[in-house]
Amino acid sequence: MGKSLWRAWRLPLLLALLVLGGGTAAFAMMLPGDKAAPPAQETPAVVTPSITEPVTPSPSPSPSVSSAVNPSPSPSPSPSPSPSPSPSPSPSPSPSSSPSPSPTASPSPSPDMEASASATPVKCPVPTEPVDCSQVKCAALTFDDGPGPHLAALLEVLEQKNTKATFFFQGPWVAKYPELVKATAEQGHAVGTHAWSHTRMTDQKPKDACGNAARGQRSIVDAGLEAPAMLRPPYGSLNDGAIAACPTFQFVLWNVDTEDWLTKDEAKIVGHVKKDTKPGSIILMHETVEANLTAVPKSIDWLCSKGYTLVTVPELFGGDVPRGQRIFKGPAPG
Ligand SMILES: [Zn+2]
Repeated sequence: MGKSLWRAWRLPLLLALLVLGGGTAAFAMMLPGDKAAPPAQETPAVVTPSITEPVTPSPSPSPSVSSAVNPSPSPSPSPSPSPSPSPSPSPSPSPSSSPSPSPTASPSPSPDMEASASATPVKCPVPTEPVDCSQVKCAALTFDDGPGPHLAALLEVLEQKNTKATFFFQGPWVAKYPELVKATAEQGHAVGTHAWSHTRMTDQKPKDACGNAARGQRSIVDAGLEAPAMLRPPYGSLNDGAIAACPTFQFVLWNVDTEDWLTKDEAKIVGHVKKDTKPGSIILMHETVEANLTAVPKSIDWLCSKGYTLVTVPELFGGDVPRGQRIFKGPAPG
């Protein structure tokens, strides 16, 4: 009698001990299939290359320091090879670590629940039909200067939040990491070009400025996507001559500057979003800023709580972004 009772209870007891002591690990060991699957999808080749170099030769970080707002007189046109500001080549958080912060907490969940426990609390509603931003409060998150070291992690964040954004990729990095570019598009985000070299259009002859933009555009085609008409001019620098010289481009600027490149501070980035976003806003961020990995989800949570629907830039215009004119270059805050 006693023996069979022990038999009957042995397994549950063992399980309970495992849960108390080893938590997830114990479950994971018992169910090998469950655990491996979810991260494996997002992590493939996408992660590895991104961590290594894109920062280094990047024209982006340092030039973008004077970016958006600052009209910095120094033309610093030598963007590509030299400035290796790379403040963050090292810490770049393994994307797979971020999404599952605390699944161990739950005491007796089914393993299936644990596998999906990485989900974050707030999720934006996903519109089932095309959004009409003339009727709905919309805002568009945009990211410049990639594909860079934090892109894979950022894509995971956006996926967890059911949010689509718009990325303006820069030519040399597109050429180097075409798979990242493809992965971004495959996840449903909109892709535009940030030109080839990170040179102000206003510092070039209009013809050259267009050539630089077109070269950036071609790099995206070479990565396997359709030629994007959307162009985010480096530094947002643009004049009528450049517009007239390449009128088929959609010159997508912004009207909320998070100044993420300047502060690299989560609270300040989110603060700009809260203070400056209005219906129809295009929000400028840089995927090269690591603080965005936490600032972006917090911004999304806040925007959703205020009733915003987050859309891509094309969606903001009902699929028809105007060409040959400045799109939403608001006064720079501060
Ligand atoms: Zn830039």
